[in-house]
Amino acid sequence: MEQLSKRIKSLGESQTIAMNQKSKDLQAQGINVINLTVGEPDFFTPPHVKEAAKKAIDENYSFYTAVNGYPELLKAIATKFKNENNLDYKPEQIMVTNGAKHALANAIMCLIDEGDEVIIPAPYWVSYAELVKLAQGNNVILPTSLDTNYKITPEQLEKAITPNTKALLLCSPSNPTGSLYNRKEMQALVNVLVKYPRIFVISDEIYEHINFVGKHVSVAEFPEIKERCVIINGVSKGYAMTGYRIGYMAAPLWLTKACSKLQGQMTTNASTIAQRAAITALTAGNEYTLEMNKAFRRRRDLVLGLMKDIPGLKCNVPDGAFYVFPDVSYYFGKSDGTVTIKDDMDFCLYLLDKASVATVPGGAFGDPRCIRISYANSDEILEKALIQMKEALAKLK
Ligand code: PMP
Ligand code: GLU
Repeated sequence: MEQLSKRIKSLGESQTIAMNQKSKDLQAQGINVINLTVGEPDFFTPPHVKEAAKKAIDENYSFYTAVNGYPELLKAIATKFKNENNLDYKPEQIMVTNGAKHALANAIMCLIDEGDEVIIPAPYWVSYAELVKLAQGNNVILPTSLDTNYKITPEQLEKAITPNTKALLLCSPSNPTGSLYNRKEMQALVNVLVKYPRIFVISDEIYEHINFVGKHVSVAEFPEIKERCVIINGVSKGYAMTGYRIGYMAAPLWLTKACSKLQGQMTTNASTIAQRAAITALTAGNEYTLEMNKAFRRRRDLVLGLMKDIPGLKCNVPDGAFYVFPDVSYYFGKSDGTVTIKDDMDFCLYLLDKASVATVPGGAFGDPRCIRISYANSDEILEKALIQMKEALAKLK
């Protein structure tokens, strides 16, 4: 008899991971599927980073490190904050985790108690609401729309705040919409938050380096609120190192210490080989990252251009990350004579079946009018995918 805890029974599966696995399984069966589900750079890890990982093995970096990570890595991250974000963090305020997802999980577990409310702007990344649920917190979802480029307004934020609000979860640049808050917009949100000293900001900045419009703005750059911010970041996206599993967080010392206690009981340190590679990634310059950024921007324009030829799709122009998140509700209620599209899931299944293109239903991100398409793929594949989509969707009347 299964004896699972209520906690795990109420936890939803990560839809990004599930859809990626589903298309990989189909590919393994010999079915030709173009996989636009997954959110990871299609680029290989930079050669100098790979060399560092190999060297780490040969030089016997094989023992446990401090839970927070190698001192050199903590120092490299502190220097990154200073140089790229003009933020002062001492190495002891920083902790290295098993991917940014783990840093988020640590922060949420250490901040959220039963009944605490966490404000999450939607569309949101799939794991936020589930991690808050795991901590027995309550999600307060703030819907946004194309009209505000999928960003919350200060008025909306203030209206959502209650005596139980414990945290705001911000993701800029956003997965899945690619929207990002500029300095003025961030200042406006900060102006609200200063009035509520109990509220903490969990700031997911994993797409910092995939930005097409200018300098990244971190909420922690506003001194009036820095002591109430935890920055979540990592090397997965900016340095094409998703599988290495290196994330990090920076926070006030009391929070970093609490996260370290939790991690000390749950996973100890992140992989030593990956930590050594991350030191090189963070200290060897961003040339490779900038090249990737250029490619993502070109692909964004390619995909948006091709989407214009498909009737009914409504989409914002993403300013960062590597996703488009079109509203596809125009197709709801339409049929090809056999299948009728009722919702986002039907739409994605139709695309999978009739266009051999795998995408993720928007409902997983809190907006069931939309679907997410990752354009972290080659120009040729993206072109082929969009043409196949156009042909399949033309059959829906
Ligand atoms: N936050 C967001 C918004 C993401 O898209 C991802 C990618 N999975 C993560 C966090 C987690 O990153 P990592 O792979 O480093 O755990
Ligand atoms: N961040 C990626 C995505 O959104 C990776 C999958 C995941 O970790 O959920 O697709």
